Amino acid sequence: TSSQSSENKPCIHLMGLRRSGKSSIAKVVFHKMSPNETLFLESTNKIVKDDISNSSFVRFQIWDFPGQVNFFDAAFDAESIFKGCGALIFVIDAQDDYTTALECLHDTVARAYKINPGIKFEVFIHKVDGLSDDQKIETQRDVHQRANDNLIDDGLENVQLSFYLTSIYDHSIFEAFSKVVQKLIPQLSALENLLNIFISNSGIEKAFLFDVVSKIYIATDSSPVDMLSYELCCDMIDVVIDISCIYGAEEDIDASTFDSQSSSLIKLNNATVLYLKEVNRCLALVCILRENSFERQGLIDYNFHIFQQAIHQVFDLRNKPTNPGPTTTTS
Ligand code: GDP
Repeated sequence: TSSQSSENKPCIHLMGLRRSGKSSIAKVVFHKMSPNETLFLESTNKIVKDDISNSSFVRFQIWDFPGQVNFFDAAFDAESIFKGCGALIFVIDAQDDYTTALECLHDTVARAYKINPGIKFEVFIHKVDGLSDDQKIETQRDVHQRANDNLIDDGLENVQLSFYLTSIYDHSIFEAFSKVVQKLIPQLSALENLLNIFISNSGIEKAFLFDVVSKIYIATDSSPVDMLSYELCCDMIDVVIDISCIYGAEEDIDASTFDSQSSSLIKLNNATVLYLKEVNRCLALVCILRENSFERQGLIDYNFHIFQQAIHQVFDLRNKPTNPGPTTTTS
């Protein structure tokens, strides 16, 4: 069934008109391409199944559709494509006239919803780096209103659309992707609870659980996320990966140089410490704390060890629903 397949392997589809930025997003988020290099990407003219499950904790595919899919084309098997879809990201170029894009969004959502009402519909209002703050707010309001009006006109008022302002030139695209991926993780609330327990027992201010390859955070504690902290943690991952690639022994960048021994500490000049600990081959925990809290590093490391075991339990339990829930003790 669709719910089973999306639970085993949550699948994200990336759709939108030609030149809206789909390939660029996939390359920047999952293949570490720098935003400027995307200027030379060839436009997509086929469905690209980009399976990144080997290197990433999050197992999903990017289906990069060519713009303006003709749903009545026999070659487009909507049934099988949308059945296995967990989230559908529709990319709209905010620097262009988006009337056609809104029509295409509507057709796509209407079609997909009828086949699989469980799909999460996510609208990326993209390339907002060219817009002023006022224009961003106005564009988001306008897209939101027109997209929802179209759905209501069609009797589809139950369909929920989520909207994000994104650009590949800053961290907004990673932030948006994080939110999309989190909705597809059944264990999210367990992870958040574990993070809450871990930080409150360790004197830590904020902690993010990262998918290292993509810099998507798959969970964080329940205190509010501030973009600056998130960017700091992303930058730290880049630094650690770069150092691992330069000095690590193995050749396989994604898998081996970042291993079970990896940890890293950065002290900033405002009495703040960034502390990175690897959780498993794909996941890392990045914490932000005051320098004086770090004096108790032994306690933090001990609590981290317990946290790490609990994480393994949470994901192992997945296929054994009869087991009791994980218990943790922290001192
Ligand atoms: P696709 O046909 O939807 O796959 O679109 P592409 O990924 O080929 O992107 C089309 C153009 O948009 C490229 O020249 C990209 O450099 C540019 N682009 C993509 N994302 C952004 C963005 O966030 N901001 C800006 N300013 N340009 C972008």
